Amino acid sequence: MLLFLLGSNRLHKDELRDHEMDSQVNDERYSSQLILPGIGQEGQRKLGNSTVVVVGCGALGCTIASALVRAGVGHLRIIDRDFVEIRNLQRQILFTEADAHLNQPKAVAAERALHQANSQVQVEGVVADFDPRNALSLVEGANLLLDGLDNFETRYLLNDVSWKTGIPWIYGGAVGTVGMTATFIPDQTPCFRCFLPDPPPPGSVATCDVAGVINSAPWMIASVQAAEAMKMLIGTPNRNRDLIVLDPWNLSFQKVLISTRENCPTCQQRRFDFLEGSAGTKVIRLCGQNAVQIWNAGQGPFPLDQLEEHLCLLGKVTRNEHLLQITIGEYTLVLFYDGRAVIRGTDDVALARSLYARYIGI
Ligand SMILES: [Zn+2]
Repeated sequence: MLLFLLGSNRLHKDELRDHEMDSQVNDERYSSQLILPGIGQEGQRKLGNSTVVVVGCGALGCTIASALVRAGVGHLRIIDRDFVEIRNLQRQILFTEADAHLNQPKAVAAERALHQANSQVQVEGVVADFDPRNALSLVEGANLLLDGLDNFETRYLLNDVSWKTGIPWIYGGAVGTVGMTATFIPDQTPCFRCFLPDPPPPGSVATCDVAGVINSAPWMIASVQAAEAMKMLIGTPNRNRDLIVLDPWNLSFQKVLISTRENCPTCQQRRFDFLEGSAGTKVIRLCGQNAVQIWNAGQGPFPLDQLEEHLCLLGKVTRNEHLLQITIGEYTLVLFYDGRAVIRGTDDVALARSLYARYIGI
């Protein structure tokens, strides 16, 4: 009994010592932000008690996650469907040449890199396509959602998820030399669908793979998103109320007011078209063909002339009045006038959706 008590006492002392050592290490680790009046010990404690979900792990997601993990959020879940490729390394700061060589899933490579940066943060990499079936369970327990996505459709889904659950989200996007961000808080601000009521038509929006991107554009936007996230988690009142548009190449910075749209399906009518499946892409695996068909319901026909103009920079395009076809690497994309796309060379739905987002841009 005495031995037990002594043992228990020692354990208690060891725990106290570990706790003291942890808090000393933390004071040192976070010393640069602890002295900021807007953060301090109380702000740091709130960050440590927070859970954030980063959806997408490209240039934005990598930079946001790196900033928040280094700043000491308690728990960060990062979700991505893709694997690392060499062309990602120009801007996706959590990955290495070895990750690209091994085709590591981005969520796995990110989890490892983030753990090496701050082992005190609970980091959870999830290899998944964020879609209407899993979206609600993937955001469970989150205080805040961060957009590191490369396509509009999933942003509409994220907006639905945010309004359905009441969890705020921070939009971010960058292409070429320009990036944008806005903060959306259910029942306090307009929503993403007030800003853009419907997804842009396929092929009408530039993507990083077609139009290119300089690395500093997503890095700047991700930095604003991360700062905004820290302020929200700490409870600082000076939040971003506008759409911020940054162009580091042409040195411009704009703030654009977003107003609540009367009859907005999401925030005014509380209709969740993208979460409940009445809008968005329909995807089917074409059995025995090593191909996946993606059909953008309600988006109308593909603007084949416009798509040809973009895609001919990436490879040889063949085309007739009904369809356009291009082979990029080991995959062939066939785009039918009626709005269907067939991705040949894979039966992996997540990969096909990723290729679609990359080259068609929705
Ligand atoms: Zn709205």
